[in-house]
Amino acid sequence: MLKTQAYINGKWTNAESGKQFSVLNPATKKEIAQVSDCDEKEIQQAIESAHNAFKTWKNTSAGERANLLRKWFDLMIQHKDELGNILALEAGKPLQEAIGEVVYGASFIEWFAEEARRAYGDIIPGHQANKRIQVIRQPIGVTVAITPWNFPNAMITRKVGAALAAGCTMIVKPSEETPLSALAMAELAEKAGFPSGVLQFVTTSNAKLFGEIVTASSIVKKISFTGSTQVGKWLMEKSAGTLKKLSLELGGNAPFIVFDDADLEAATDGALASKFRNNGQTCVCANRIFVQEGIYDAFVKRFTEKVKAQKVGNPFDQGVSIGPLINYKAVQKVSRLITDATDKGASVICGGTLIQGEGHFFEPTVITKVNATMEIAHEEIFGPIAPIFSFKTAEEVIEKANDTSAGLAAYIYASNYKTIYQVSEALEYGMVGVNTGMISTTVAPFGGVKESGFGREGSKYGMDEYQVMKYICLEV
Ligand code: ADP
Repeated sequence: MLKTQAYINGKWTNAESGKQFSVLNPATKKEIAQVSDCDEKEIQQAIESAHNAFKTWKNTSAGERANLLRKWFDLMIQHKDELGNILALEAGKPLQEAIGEVVYGASFIEWFAEEARRAYGDIIPGHQANKRIQVIRQPIGVTVAITPWNFPNAMITRKVGAALAAGCTMIVKPSEETPLSALAMAELAEKAGFPSGVLQFVTTSNAKLFGEIVTASSIVKKISFTGSTQVGKWLMEKSAGTLKKLSLELGGNAPFIVFDDADLEAATDGALASKFRNNGQTCVCANRIFVQEGIYDAFVKRFTEKVKAQKVGNPFDQGVSIGPLINYKAVQKVSRLITDATDKGASVICGGTLIQGEGHFFEPTVITKVNATMEIAHEEIFGPIAPIFSFKTAEEVIEKANDTSAGLAAYIYASNYKTIYQVSEALEYGMVGVNTGMISTTVAPFGGVKESGFGREGSKYGMDEYQVMKYICLEV
């Protein structure tokens, strides 16, 4: 299932220039494969094909689309081990976690296969006796997904599932770090039998060129992007010329708040799961852990014991829960944040350094005596550092938690239901986990507020992003 060509208009395609780019294994820094490096010609070709395919795809019945999605889902589950292997190889995710992502990713295809049949409209009582008002939902048109490397499977499926279910066609541009998972999914989509041009995969190392072309295109009606805030803002600026509809799922800076009355075991387990999932490289990872004074010392002690018990290593080795960071840039960022914090008075309780060897392995790190003057309090860490802040009152922690331009996920651990309600409602975030560190699921709306972006993925709302509402007024 290791495909290395782009998938355009139902054909496996090399770049006409003959160019390819390398995909590296972050655990060994060795090359896994060379992949077609598409240029303007292939990108334009994909847009044309998506445009042509839309003319018939939009008129298929919801049942036909549901059946194709269902077949694709079945194939993904059937091949979950192979898909997981490819994912672990290119993203450095421990194998079981990688297979877990494939199952989670596939669940969006299953979900939207079901939702395709439920794109209900509305009948509104007319404003005059002889008027009948009907609201229908129609697919927006040709859509584009631009996705990151941290979930090479699931960030694609939650966009593609919703788009195809709604009757849109979609061009996917996977991250240049992890195109192989995307192309393996393309192979299964081809087997499932989607018509040519309905779903295409354009691989390129020139993300900016791709961005320039799709934002300028008047054929492309919608872009769904998951990635950095900086690139999200750039895409929005560029899309102004064609007033393109956008979904932007951008960076987070998740507070993880532990009150004195929290269950210590549950809170430390939740913090571990939320902080170190995918080695800290998710946009919903706990970024700032706030612990109330009364439980602070006990929390740091127990949490550190659990962090020290984690096994860092090659994703394919038994018992490994933390793999390598994606690349050297990520190592540099994590090192810079630790140096800045310690220069300003923070203490490293465990970890803190790069593990010498073949890959980009970094020790899981706990730091205390952190404060708001440090870069770590404001930047998305995207790595295995857990900074633990202390606080006295709910008012204080709400203010600190909201003191960021991001607003994606937040977490609270507490027993008192009043605290739970007051704090969850006061947090300026799109998602709040209460007494749980794991909130991602197909059935709930995933998305942020503030500079974490807008638009929701998954859930009964996910298809809205790919539909336009039309109202038909009929005089009888
Ligand atoms: P990260 O730092 O997590 O890689 P990016 O925002 O740089 O985040 O990348 C997320 C996705 O956006 C990747 O697929 C990347 O290739 C793509 N990308 C980066 N810059 C641009 C751009 N100017 N236009 C379109 N896509 C881009």
